[in-house]
Amino acid sequence: MRYEDFYRQSIEQPEQFWAEQARLIHWETPPQQILDQSRPPFRRWFVGGTTNLCYNAVDRHLAHRAEQLALVAISGETGFTREFTYRELHREVNVFAAVLQQLAVGKGDRVVIYLPNIAEAVFAMLACARIGAIHSVVFGGFAAHNLALRIDDAQPKLLIATDAGMRGGKVISYKPLVDAALAESRSPPPHVLIVDRELDPLMTHMAGRDLDYASLRAQCRGAEVAVTWLESNEPSYLLYTSGTTGNPKGIQRDVGGYAVAMALSIRTVFDIAPGQVMFSTSDIGWQVGHSYNVYAPLIGGATSLLYEGLPTRPDPGIWWELCEKYGVRTMFSSPTALRVLKKQDPAWLKKYDLSSLQWLFLAGEPLDEPTARWITEAIGVPVIDNYWQTETGWPAITLMPGLDLKSVKLGSPGLPAPGYKIKVIDENSGEEVAPQQKGVLVFEPPLPPGCLTTVWRDDERYVVSYFSSFKDLLYNSLDWAIRDEEGYIWILGRTDDVINVAGHRLGTREIEESVATHPAVAEAAVVGVHDELKGQLPIVFATLKQDAGDGAAAIALAMQQCVVNRLGAVAKPSRVYVVNALPKTRSGKLLRRLLQALAEQRDPGDLSVLDDPAALEEIRRALARGPQLGG
Ligand code: ATP
Ligand code: MG
Repeated sequence: MRYEDFYRQSIEQPEQFWAEQARLIHWETPPQQILDQSRPPFRRWFVGGTTNLCYNAVDRHLAHRAEQLALVAISGETGFTREFTYRELHREVNVFAAVLQQLAVGKGDRVVIYLPNIAEAVFAMLACARIGAIHSVVFGGFAAHNLALRIDDAQPKLLIATDAGMRGGKVISYKPLVDAALAESRSPPPHVLIVDRELDPLMTHMAGRDLDYASLRAQCRGAEVAVTWLESNEPSYLLYTSGTTGNPKGIQRDVGGYAVAMALSIRTVFDIAPGQVMFSTSDIGWQVGHSYNVYAPLIGGATSLLYEGLPTRPDPGIWWELCEKYGVRTMFSSPTALRVLKKQDPAWLKKYDLSSLQWLFLAGEPLDEPTARWITEAIGVPVIDNYWQTETGWPAITLMPGLDLKSVKLGSPGLPAPGYKIKVIDENSGEEVAPQQKGVLVFEPPLPPGCLTTVWRDDERYVVSYFSSFKDLLYNSLDWAIRDEEGYIWILGRTDDVINVAGHRLGTREIEESVATHPAVAEAAVVGVHDELKGQLPIVFATLKQDAGDGAAAIALAMQQCVVNRLGAVAKPSRVYVVNALPKTRSGKLLRRLLQALAEQRDPGDLSVLDDPAALEEIRRALARGPQLGG
């Protein structure tokens, strides 16, 4: 089918289109109504239908592909590979679900999963889905404070963690972070279930609270746990955004709509049929990991590869080696990871037979042309940029090689995905702008199946954050975009302030708040400056409560440590400048854009909003003099 016809039908006859797509999954009871829009901007898809994500991802395949590989978990760090057929996956998920039930976890209870990319993370997610518990995976690179914030919001009945992860050959203990997070948390769960990888010999259990997964698993061997059928619109899981306000949003997803979006996209976008192999390099703590490491490939009856570690360990050929070994058809990664591989000896790429590889998808941040050209030439397959957000759950703008591949335009993620009514509008008037004009990227309601249904326990925040900027309840993506004459869309960056470090999104506000926890700091401003390798790096400008003289360097070092302690090493500022004043607008808002421009040696642009010109000179002097930390 042609993309144009497919897309047009999704927009012009949405109910017919989605009723058709709903047949891609198993419904225990079929939906009675395809779309309910009686309470915009909320909408409900497949009302009255009952289904289950775990059943669709696992049980459903037992009849035809029980002996086919479902999950391959490879660790470039420990050197171990674990393979699971659908039958074995079914067994592991049932046992995990039985353990959850033993710990009194049931329908509607939240379970926070704080694990690296290991098979147990997938078992835990699917086990939750099986019994109707709501999982909330927290990225393993987040430190204690970030974990505590998410625990306090989700109020879980159980936390699932591990003794340690590994990165670059170094063991990273998780347990001390868990203990610190629970000490900080206002609603600590009664139990922590620990998947002990025996990486950290110093790990200790807290008697009564901490439980060893291996022992409970042994007790539940052979258990079968009945599937809990859920109404299509009941919550399936939560995933927190990075949070520019310092208070992350718990993106809530439904069951039926998400399952249908996964089933549709794995075929038509990612071109994966049952029995084929998908390799997404994402961490399961991100949205791509949820959708394209776990739910979509499994719902689609494919084999999913899960990878723990850096793309350069044990050597920079590892990802290509895996493509050859497992016959990967579609690979999904990030521009940052590709930029790392670009720096390696090109011989690594030539070493392996990549003839099975058909497509490389990249997402999460702007894809620069040199990287896109390099990798297209190196592996000889089209590179497909695709745009989406945690909120959307699946690509909103992409090409769809599973249908028919439209021409790739470098720098553009392509065309709207089915069901996405995309507009580029003027920020002030709200009217659609002409082709090639910059505007705000918005989606006209209703959002298609798969997108967020609300913010966890905060319907008002859902409405205020996404639907109140413009008339007609348009969904505000908070990204700038332009559209060309052929309908291709270019993403120009964000309308809010976020730093992208090696694919990890960090709110500037969050880092500023961490810096400001140091008692000597009066105020801090954080901006991202361009970095060849990582995309951006955070730098700090801070004023102190009292002149510290020679002590400024020590305080700068302590500020950096405050950030690492609260947010993790990903957020570590690369430079800290202690200054006497920060540039602000008359209404008292920090002018981060100005700081960023000066730090990147660009023209600071319009200075009329600046309250005190002396602050500008102060920043220029500080930059010329050099930072107190870094350089
Ligand atoms: P928060 O909303 O808490 O600030 P976040 O927006 O940083 O979190 P994500 O939902 O992971 O976290 O990121 C989505 C954003 O990533 C998009 O809004 C866009 O800015 C950027 N993005 C994603 N894909 C692309 C792409 N292909 N090209 C350019 N930018 C992209
Ligand atoms: Mg966002």
